[in-house]
Amino acid sequence: MPYIEPPGAAEFIPEHATPGGLRKAVQSCRGCDLYAHATQAVFGEGPSSAEIVFIGEQPGDEEDRQGHPFVGPSGKLLDRALADAGIDRSLVYVTNAVKHFKFEERGKRRLHKKPGGLEIRACRPWLEAEINLIQPSIIVCLGATAAQSIFGGTYRLTKERGQFVRNSWAPHVTSTVHPSAILRAPDEQQRHIEYQKFVADLRKYTACGRDSANRALLFRIPEFRDNTCVYGPLRARKSSSAFNCRAAFSRFWVFWIKKKSRARPGYLRGLLGHFANHALVVVIVL
Ligand code: SF4
Repeated sequence: MPYIEPPGAAEFIPEHATPGGLRKAVQSCRGCDLYAHATQAVFGEGPSSAEIVFIGEQPGDEEDRQGHPFVGPSGKLLDRALADAGIDRSLVYVTNAVKHFKFEERGKRRLHKKPGGLEIRACRPWLEAEINLIQPSIIVCLGATAAQSIFGGTYRLTKERGQFVRNSWAPHVTSTVHPSAILRAPDEQQRHIEYQKFVADLRKYTACGRDSANRALLFRIPEFRDNTCVYGPLRARKSSSAFNCRAAFSRFWVFWIKKKSRARPGYLRGLLGHFANHALVVVIVL
């Protein structure tokens, strides 16, 4: 009997929904068969104003039980890599191409099963709805499933990893491996090598001064949104600037903040955390 294409998620997506509305509605989705065995749908999480969105494949066993994305072993590795790359996890949005866990049972264990093209296509409207609401500057596809959901079935991660393209999803769309691929490396040495490559990929997204999207990413610290808090950069200047920056300093940043701002302690802490690797940061208290 020929396989019938599942109806897809489109009809389950409420019009003009907020992120909270989508999160609630996804629990009723019957766009493909995956809902039938999973505990719950796992929707994306993170600030709806995030500049960067990471898309994984599907929730894993732990995510399925807890109802949150990237909270299992892969998520822990992603947290560590983001921290090593200087990206604050609380400022990024993380989600999956497919919202229900696909697995096969082996005794008491539930083993991950890769979603097929039909399921990826069926679930794509949820991803589109999330991205439409967030409108990030950067989308990072973690692994081949996410990349194929965004770029189409002919995308080859091994060939195109790390390349940035501009498309209808976002101004900067790229791919890297899924953290689970690093965990599956055959030995500790290989895991270390793959981890370092992964962190190097993530660092590209914070290469501030290179373009406005990356700069914006670094500035989306919550304290920065305090109304009393004005923020920069005044400009990313080269070493010959009036601030007498030494040649070794490839770039530096100037921020300013109002003296009475209640956000001042958090703002300063945020600066230290985010710009620890930068040559020079000047903070002016007005
Ligand atoms: S996997 Fe996606 S399309 Fe399929 S039932 Fe779940 S939410 Fe709907």
